Amino acid sequence: MKIGFHVSISGSIDLAVDRAVALGCNTFQIFTRNPRGWRPRPLKAEEVEAFIEKKSRAGLEPVYAHTPYLINLASPRVEVYKRSLEALMIDLERCRALEIPYLVTHLGSHLGTGSGLGIERLIKAINRALAEAENEVIILLENGAGSAHQIGSKLEDLRMIMDMVERPSQVAVCLDTCHAFAAGYEFRTPLGLEKTLKTIEESIGFEKLRLVHLNDSRGGLGSGVDHHEHIGLGEIGEEGFQLILKSRLAESPMILETPMDNRRSDIENLRKVKELASS
Ligand code: ZN
Ligand code: MN
Ligand code: MN
Repeated sequence: MKIGFHVSISGSIDLAVDRAVALGCNTFQIFTRNPRGWRPRPLKAEEVEAFIEKKSRAGLEPVYAHTPYLINLASPRVEVYKRSLEALMIDLERCRALEIPYLVTHLGSHLGTGSGLGIERLIKAINRALAEAENEVIILLENGAGSAHQIGSKLEDLRMIMDMVERPSQVAVCLDTCHAFAAGYEFRTPLGLEKTLKTIEESIGFEKLRLVHLNDSRGGLGSGVDHHEHIGLGEIGEEGFQLILKSRLAESPMILETPMDNRRSDIENLRKVKELASS
């Protein structure tokens, strides 16, 4: 099993590797900068070097980065769109420098202008960013929870985007189990999971599935609510994760984005995953 956490870069970016190692991960995900700001401070050569050195010494591969929360690549607002595109380009460059092969991003919100136009704007942004980046970093489109005006909660939409971009080899998918469940994809019964896997196979295709965000969900099936929960403590529940962890989904690397609170630590979540995978 390839499994890890979203870990903090607080202090210095290379400390993320130490944190992942301390948790017993064999992969991890980071924000390469403060996820609540637009323009990050440039990376220092020393921290880039330390990050790459520690990462290869620990044998943690592949590593994933995630774009900041603020960006909306489907926005009809010119200024927000411009800043989002710029942030995406900055993150692609930071990934290249840090030797991170994958950058996960949310697809954004069309803000009431319609899913078609939102997807058009997103595709333009991806094309522009990849054309200017001139690197090998792969953008992972993360499925949404299905909240109002959000694009990309249907797996068919992710397929359409991958089919329409200019560099399809540099665009793939990150499937978030909490978001998928909230968007109406069932995991809790053998039959339900089988149907979901079939949809994944027929829309995305497993070769395009490069990462699973393994999160339980506070919201119910089809609720449209993006609220992560500890593994087994939410609506997907232990039975659901038992099925997920014995399915093809577990062949892909998995990153937990479970809550930070005192009900359950990261290490306990990891232990729970291993227990459910082997039971
Ligand atoms: Zn995300
Ligand atoms: Mn996620
Ligand atoms: Mn989320």
